[in-house]
Amino acid sequence: MDARVDFAVRSVLNLAGPPLPLGHQHWEVLESLGRVLRRYPAPPVEFYGICSSVPDVLFIPARPTPGAPAYCVYTERHYCMVATLKTLSALQLTTEQSRMGMAHNVFLRLAADYFLQQGAHGDAARLYCASWLSPAGDEGLAVDAGLFDTLFTNPVVESALVDGGWPLAHELGHIIADSDEEVPALLADLLNQYLRERFGGQPPVWGPPGARDRLIAEVSADWFGAELLLRSIAGRTLGENGLSILLNEFAGNMSVMMLMESCKEMVRLACTDPSALGRPQKSGHRGWMYDVRRDMLFHSIRLDLWEAFPDEPAQATFVGLIRRAMAFYRLNFDAMLAGLSRAERTLRYGLAPPGLDEPLLQELNPRAADWWDTVFRPLASERAQQSRWFGWATREFVNRARATHNSHQQSAELIGYLDRLAPDEVPPPARHRLKPGQRDWSGILPPEYLPRR
Ligand SMILES: [Zn+2]
Repeated sequence: MDARVDFAVRSVLNLAGPPLPLGHQHWEVLESLGRVLRRYPAPPVEFYGICSSVPDVLFIPARPTPGAPAYCVYTERHYCMVATLKTLSALQLTTEQSRMGMAHNVFLRLAADYFLQQGAHGDAARLYCASWLSPAGDEGLAVDAGLFDTLFTNPVVESALVDGGWPLAHELGHIIADSDEEVPALLADLLNQYLRERFGGQPPVWGPPGARDRLIAEVSADWFGAELLLRSIAGRTLGENGLSILLNEFAGNMSVMMLMESCKEMVRLACTDPSALGRPQKSGHRGWMYDVRRDMLFHSIRLDLWEAFPDEPAQATFVGLIRRAMAFYRLNFDAMLAGLSRAERTLRYGLAPPGLDEPLLQELNPRAADWWDTVFRPLASERAQQSRWFGWATREFVNRARATHNSHQQSAELIGYLDRLAPDEVPPPARHRLKPGQRDWSGILPPEYLPRR
């Protein structure tokens, strides 16, 4: 990694020291994406994986020298969060209420990481602790580094291809879209047409300024990202089952990506204008825009793969599989979104009963550090005695916190407390590696989703 890339990675991930590279040598997904990218007027790309860091995927443009590479940098934690959220979206649960409760906790943990990225360590620690306060059966969702190994060792499973490739392909899609005038313009027209048809000529409220341009930029990146990924797996024989998994993974990864973007947006808002938290028009990703983006993505996938289906029955099966894949993740999406809104409420008003609001964030409540940190310490200590998962997840959280800058100079005493609480070396929960096509019900790797009846 050259000094310029090192600097860019450190500043985007808010790292306190040099980035720690992930120790893997060979990943089929990266190689095939890099190969396909050469067909576009884009510079060659080098990929870097980073461990012990906040979740993110970033792209660093090439220097203006012919042949100079661009860089695509991804973090292990990003993939762990994708897997956690996707597993949660697909879990069979008895009530949507419980999914919402679990999502609330997972989003607080994700938001805690994004606060670390913003350099607000005290807020991050309080969010992390708050996420463990009301257990919602989500301990099994504390996905670890073992997931990443499993992705590498299963490169031939369709789910691993999209799971591994989509976050990167979408990022690369932004670059291709930026140097292409035609497709984003066509997509803007398509979007207008879609909105007219869907909303009967009365387009919905766009929200914050620039929301429309952002949506077109994202839709274009999705468009090229899907194209890249589908081309990178061209030549594989996909049976109906393989195709179904592929489409499901696209749907799952898409909804999870949007949820993660919204969570990040929420934290950005919390750090710039915290009193605006909870006002729906402030976070531009809400509501109907999710459906639009997912529909546009599947429109692109359908166009891309259409020619592979020679006759009407095959085409009808394909369309049916697309519908099922979209419906499967739509089913639980509202509960996931409700969990995110509840996490936002927790940021704004704390966990106290209504009327006794004690925001967790220092900016909203200067006493937060004293008030909440005192509440959290005994609770965390109790949790550490009860749960091995807590000890393990907390060690990982503390390591991430130690790897980042506390640039807001918030009191990090709670992190020190968690550091003393969590054992230094917690053996990660035992994982087994999957074989291609094997199903895993442990909730760690994305299972092969069965269409729900
Ligand atoms: Zn994007």
